[in-house]
Amino acid sequence: MDRIDLVREAFTRKEVPVEAPEGKISEYFGELVFDLPKMEAYIDAASYRSLLGCIDGGHALDQATADAVAEGMKRWAMEHGVTHVTHWFQPLTEGTAEKHDSLIDYDGKGGVIETFDGRMLAQQEPDASSFPSGGLRATFEARGYTAWDPTSPVFILGDTLCIPTVFISYKGEALDYKTPLKRALKAVSDAAVPVCRLFDPKVSKVYSYLGWEQEYFLVDESLYAARTDLMITGRTLFGHNSSKNQQLDDHYFAAIPPRVSAFMKELEIEAYRLGIPLKTRHNEVAPGQFEMAPIYGETNLSNDQNQIVMNLMNMVARRHGFVVLLHEKPFAGVNGSGKHNNWSLGTDTGVQLMAPGKDALGNLQFITFFVNTLAAVQKYNGLLKASVASATNAHRLGANEAPPAIVSAFLGTTMTAVLHKLLELPSGTPIEIAGKKGRSLGLVELPELFLDNTDRNRTSPFAFTGNRFEFRAVGSSANCAGSLTTLNAAVAGQLLDFKASVDAELASGKALEVAIMDVLKPIIKSVLDVVCFDGNGYSDEWKEEARRRGLDTETCVPKIFCEFTRPETVSLFERTGVYSRTELEARNEVKWETYIKKVQIESRVMERMAMNHIIPAALEYKSRLLAEVAAAKQVYGNLNSCTTELTLLEEINSCVEQVRKLSQVMKEARRKANAVEDIYERALMYFDIAESLPALRSPIDRLEEVVDNRLWPLPKYRELMFIN
Ligand code: ADP
Ligand code: MG
Repeated sequence: MDRIDLVREAFTRKEVPVEAPEGKISEYFGELVFDLPKMEAYIDAASYRSLLGCIDGGHALDQATADAVAEGMKRWAMEHGVTHVTHWFQPLTEGTAEKHDSLIDYDGKGGVIETFDGRMLAQQEPDASSFPSGGLRATFEARGYTAWDPTSPVFILGDTLCIPTVFISYKGEALDYKTPLKRALKAVSDAAVPVCRLFDPKVSKVYSYLGWEQEYFLVDESLYAARTDLMITGRTLFGHNSSKNQQLDDHYFAAIPPRVSAFMKELEIEAYRLGIPLKTRHNEVAPGQFEMAPIYGETNLSNDQNQIVMNLMNMVARRHGFVVLLHEKPFAGVNGSGKHNNWSLGTDTGVQLMAPGKDALGNLQFITFFVNTLAAVQKYNGLLKASVASATNAHRLGANEAPPAIVSAFLGTTMTAVLHKLLELPSGTPIEIAGKKGRSLGLVELPELFLDNTDRNRTSPFAFTGNRFEFRAVGSSANCAGSLTTLNAAVAGQLLDFKASVDAELASGKALEVAIMDVLKPIIKSVLDVVCFDGNGYSDEWKEEARRRGLDTETCVPKIFCEFTRPETVSLFERTGVYSRTELEARNEVKWETYIKKVQIESRVMERMAMNHIIPAALEYKSRLLAEVAAAKQVYGNLNSCTTELTLLEEINSCVEQVRKLSQVMKEARRKANAVEDIYERALMYFDIAESLPALRSPIDRLEEVVDNRLWPLPKYRELMFIN
């Protein structure tokens, strides 16, 4: 089929009606999750209690309990038609991994029976030698283990029981995203609890919460299939701008197209069955771009749910003739996709630590956590950027697009004023909230516009939005664990330092409120001067200013990764127990390797498409023009009537020549880079190759503009983004 046929087909595709389950959402919500009520129903009381101990207290699962839990799980799963089981884990690739095993085993009488015991539940040893480990397995043992994480509930996908697991090496090093995330969640709780107890001795656990906003594009599957670049790299490597894209702002929050709406509905139904509380859905800024967000939840669970949703999206989309693009920048010239990570901390006594409290002490507690978070972001701003950096996210960060490649914090006018005011007041002054009690003592005022914090700044990578911080620099395809492990560890490290300082002040006999404010004041002064920025994050002046303030402004992705092995970083991660130095070094190897491969693939695809798709189309058009010119010469005896053809021919010749030349240069650059042994040096060379792709793209996009529309072999931007 040629392009025009594909477009016709895409245009006439109709939405697939969705069969909604009977009853209200609340009636089928979570039906495919083995949650606490089901555990209680399917497991004997003693084993259930013992399992709860493991979940709450973090101690290991004993064999007898594991067997009892497995037995209950099997019974429940088989009632839902489950035939297979898998350990479901999150290796350092994109997405999740699963290896399905059937439940059957020989029964010793010539037949088979379904079996599933505690051993199979608790641990597996997948042949995992093909997952990236950064040398961790090669050095010690080729083996990798998956072990059940009882804090993430087991769920059913299709005919398979999925057991969320961590993935670790023989020596216990993390080979995945989940293990360090769990360590960071423990670290932030361990560091935050003693600080909370300054205010309320009853606090015994602090939770980190995550609410992810997932942006994505939908593309018709037949158009997608005709774009080798989209299929292989997840983004278009060339494509001329559509005359109309997002300049009219008419897509954002517009009516959802029927086919997209059918997709969203079905996705939501599947998500609800899996206990994923999807809450919002809407059109995003770019044509063909959409967003969804769940109700926030505990970070480990919410992140698992995001991973499940990313898988579900792809499966459901295919049923509706769509392909989901989770790439950070599928199309040049319009917005890319991110994943805003809304983050906060809360106590097991039900207090939100990132929101004002009920009284002066509660407010002081809020200010304490608020300011310490800012201090952590300031101290580790380069590291936080590194935690979201990737070959694909590089097209957003710093590329004049939502969040710049500088991590600063946006507080809004209210909180900025509050911090300034606090600096002026004597330490120990009660912090009053105007509005709540209906009166202001003329001290610090936190008006109630709070939760409706309207003065938002979309250019900020880390923004306070009333009761949480929103880390907006995360890539749409990323595993949220990457950034949240770092953020929680950074806050944990800062809280440990803070607590030590407050203890010293208390030891000198100061009252609690005075001691806390005395420690906070210099921190407040510093964050206001350095990390807080309410202006336009895209401007060149900000880049200059940020450099002056000492914030990290590096944009070279392979160099950004070096943040992970700086001495300050290693010390942060080691003292919080989140990563060992070996793990950090291994992970950087993986990051550089992944970066190299991604750029290498893009560069190859671009070159091959240029040779196989673009140049032939251009030459075809050229030969038609030449025939035209030759005919004119014959008829008129001169070329006077051919100025348009001659100009076009010149343009085509020049573009084709550039494409050939630049492809050759790029190929040579790859050859040179591939010969370099040191992986970091090689990654730096691939960074230069990545930087050279736009130069090759430019003559190709020019050709798209001049070549006969009927001869152009690839679906164009105006078709890819607008047909849904
Ligand atoms: P917006 O686009 O205005 O930022 P959305 O409703 O799209 O808002 O997304 C906000 C996300 O933040 C949701 O997932 C929501 O549940 C989450 N959220 C709200 N409060 C908190 C909180 N205290 N901690 C973490 N996430 C939160
Ligand atoms: Mg948001």
